[in-house]
Amino acid sequence: MKFNTKTIHGGQKPEKSTGAIMPPIFQTSTYAQTNPDQEFHYSRGENPTRKALEDSFAAIENGTKGFAFSSGLAAIDAVLRLLKPGDEIIAGDDLYGGTYRMFTKLFQKYGLEFSFVDTDSLKNITDKITENTKLIWLETPTNPLMKIADINAISNAVKEINNEILIAVDNTFATPYLQQPLNLGADIVMHSATKYLGGHSDIIMGALMVKDAKLAEEIHFIQFAAGAIAGPMDSFLALRGIKTLHIRIQRHCENGKVIANFLKNHPKVGKVYYPGLAEHPNFELAKKQMKDFGGMVSFSLKEETKEAAFKFLENTKLFTLAESLGGVESLANHSATMSHASIPEEERLKIGITDSLIRLSVGIEDVEDLIQDLENALQA
Ligand SMILES: *Cc1c(COP(=O)(O)O)cnc(C)c1O
Repeated sequence: MKFNTKTIHGGQKPEKSTGAIMPPIFQTSTYAQTNPDQEFHYSRGENPTRKALEDSFAAIENGTKGFAFSSGLAAIDAVLRLLKPGDEIIAGDDLYGGTYRMFTKLFQKYGLEFSFVDTDSLKNITDKITENTKLIWLETPTNPLMKIADINAISNAVKEINNEILIAVDNTFATPYLQQPLNLGADIVMHSATKYLGGHSDIIMGALMVKDAKLAEEIHFIQFAAGAIAGPMDSFLALRGIKTLHIRIQRHCENGKVIANFLKNHPKVGKVYYPGLAEHPNFELAKKQMKDFGGMVSFSLKEETKEAAFKFLENTKLFTLAESLGGVESLANHSATMSHASIPEEERLKIGITDSLIRLSVGIEDVEDLIQDLENALQA
């Protein structure tokens, strides 16, 4: 099956007892058993609605197994539970703020060691590898600066040094429509399904997808033993969202491109961060690695102050000032005070998240209306 077909049919079968095309919401904690070892025995372990979603997760990322968690962060937490004290993790320096917070404020105190590097250079990563390195954590494109890491080159170089080091990619921004990390050599794909996979801003959910059977078994054990599972209602909504992932992302990409170009040419705008602009430092790599460039666009203002950014954000009408991204509606976010507030100011400025930086999650509305909204707010 090709990708668009997989979003609708991947791992899906009509429900056995009625033929229901969509899996019913099996809102149950337990199952009457006819014998003590049947497939469904307790919903922390298995639930048919969640299973339908997990099979879809596996299909769209070209994995063999998918896992649905109660949030994106719960999915990342499950990956870190594969490790033990003394293990080292190399991660990008421009991560989702909550991931950075989990790494530094939670897991460091359990004896995991983290180094943060600019992952757009391979050497930055290989230089940090020691015999204790167990995991490479990548985000590409990064949030909010839209830097691109070469998943295939990193996977090859790292595996050549030590085949046991796991490569995990947070694929939330790109989605499998644009890039499939397991095909590029990664071992684990993670999603905040809260964002594009769900796509309608109505759930909090996380996903992991893997190819390797042993790794799948370990993650399944962690999911069951730690218990941060997705519920049946949310699983149903995520599955429904995935069925239109491909057409939504096509429109997000079309609109994203138009808006990036509009901003680039606007006299009040400073820098524009969008991997589909030819002047983006990773444009060639983005073109090679991704099918298209997505709907996330960040930009700074020429007037480099928080006040100028706030004024813009208070004056948009269609772009709603909100956390999160990846829904059908357009959202705007002030990175320094919102998504990246947990990163110390000095760190934040060092990596380029300046006081006027604004991140847009471009929705699938008519792009003329979106442009008009941005123009009005820039002139306000
Ligand atoms: C939102 C997000 C997360 C965290 O996911 P939650 O569902 O909010 O727990 C992780 N990574 C990225 C890139 C995100 O955007």
